[in-house]
Amino acid sequence: MSVWTDKTSNLLVDGEWHPGSGGRFETANPATEEVLGTAANATAADLDRAIAAARRAFDETGWSRDVDLRVRCLKQLGTALQEHAEELRELTIAEVGAPRFLTHGAQLDAPVADLAYFADLAAGYEWTRDLGVAEPMGMPSRRWTRREAVGVVGAITPWNFPHQINLAKLGPALAAGNTVVLKPAPDTPWCAAAVAEILLRETDIPPGVVNVVTSDDHALGAQLPSDERVDLVSFTGSTATGRAVMAAAAPGIKRTFLELGGKSAFVVLDDADLGAACGLAAFTVCTHAGQGCALTTRLLVPRERYDEAVEATAKALRGIGVGDPDEPGTVCGPLISARQRDRVEGYLALARDEGGEFVTGGARAERDRGFFVEPTLIAGLTNDARVAREEIFGPVLVILPHDGDDDAVRIANDSPYGLSGAVHGGDLERARAVAARLRTGTVGVNGGVWYGGDAPFGGYKQSGIGREMGVAGFEEYLETKLIAEPA
Ligand code: NAD
Repeated sequence: MSVWTDKTSNLLVDGEWHPGSGGRFETANPATEEVLGTAANATAADLDRAIAAARRAFDETGWSRDVDLRVRCLKQLGTALQEHAEELRELTIAEVGAPRFLTHGAQLDAPVADLAYFADLAAGYEWTRDLGVAEPMGMPSRRWTRREAVGVVGAITPWNFPHQINLAKLGPALAAGNTVVLKPAPDTPWCAAAVAEILLRETDIPPGVVNVVTSDDHALGAQLPSDERVDLVSFTGSTATGRAVMAAAAPGIKRTFLELGGKSAFVVLDDADLGAACGLAAFTVCTHAGQGCALTTRLLVPRERYDEAVEATAKALRGIGVGDPDEPGTVCGPLISARQRDRVEGYLALARDEGGEFVTGGARAERDRGFFVEPTLIAGLTNDARVAREEIFGPVLVILPHDGDDDAVRIANDSPYGLSGAVHGGDLERARAVAARLRTGTVGVNGGVWYGGDAPFGGYKQSGIGREMGVAGFEEYLETKLIAEPA
């Protein structure tokens, strides 16, 4: 894999490993601040060629109609990525700052394994469905539905879980018969380029079916929603950018599939094991330094046990601390960049201005290098505080009191977001009833884990439109055609 050994990467455009026309830009290790190497910097002209190639591969080859080829190619890709897993693991830890333990799950191994799920789904999918004979307006007709690929997919992805998000778009989009132009985030070009290189060299995926265009220019992505050759934009990122993508797609009535931000609640009911629940909430918000859209960042605890919960959570956060992502025991590594650390520090200053108390943390971690922020617990605020409403994307937990189940549901749902949540309680039926009232796309009850290739993931409200993964995630990439013939 030349991306890792030669410390440089190219674009994948129309089946060629191409240096691009915009020079190169650096990619760095957020734990050490060392430059790892460079990536090809695509220009608008490079993206234009990539879109043209994807259009041609969709319109002029048999890819969209050849399920067997797609199944074979996706399995090849999964196997090839598995064969390069250890190189990819080191690259991911270095470029993303992802804790090593997470690469055995959602940061690498899980999304690679899930490619086989999408291959199997396509192989066994009911592409046509007989609706039988009816007599609309007295004319007997046999009708059936056909599911067909949407066309050219423009995929725009963030840096926090690059493999998970890139593959959760590529897998179902390709299985469904689409062609793809992937524009990854400027902070993690190598994660995408490494997959592109392996795909090019070790699979039979035809030229133009997958194009990967790295760039340090955020604005490049804006070309995808406004280009009429693109049929669907599959976007994961912040709600603010999602809004811009939706607006750019509107004139062309282009389909948009959006996975956006979150401010999810971890609800502890009054019959829960408070210590265990607070420990899990602390672990969750520290995972990958809080850089996960679905991590729970508001901890709602019974008012009468607020002080006890504050103490237990702070103790757990102090025990976790920050660490080198390379170490197997590290949970909380660095933030992705100085820019992201500045953003998190801005929110810490805001919390202070809003009257919040840092029970623990509240500052940069004392380390020589890297973008580390201490795991932080903010107490003494209400759900109206901006730090309780806005996504911080750092290891920062806001702890809020509630006055019983109804109040907890009210506070949890009092958010512009609706991505995820957790409920902990001693009485399972009662915890389930609270979970059912949360207006979010996923909920874990008593530590249940909702993540999986077959599990649809997505948001209510401003957390997005559509579902990624599972059958629902596959069907996001399909059109429905109804055919009728005289019976
Ligand atoms: P971001 O919105 O800044 O960028 C995401 C991607 O969009 C990047 O590739 C970026 O270059 C591109 N982009 C920026 N401006 C654009 C524009 N005007 N048009 C088209 N593309 C544009 O997000 P980020 O900082 O990279 O990632 C963090 C955010 O992603 C958080 O808000 C997080 O919650 C969200 N996220 C959501 C999910 C989910 O599944 N719901 C998963 C991971 C991350």
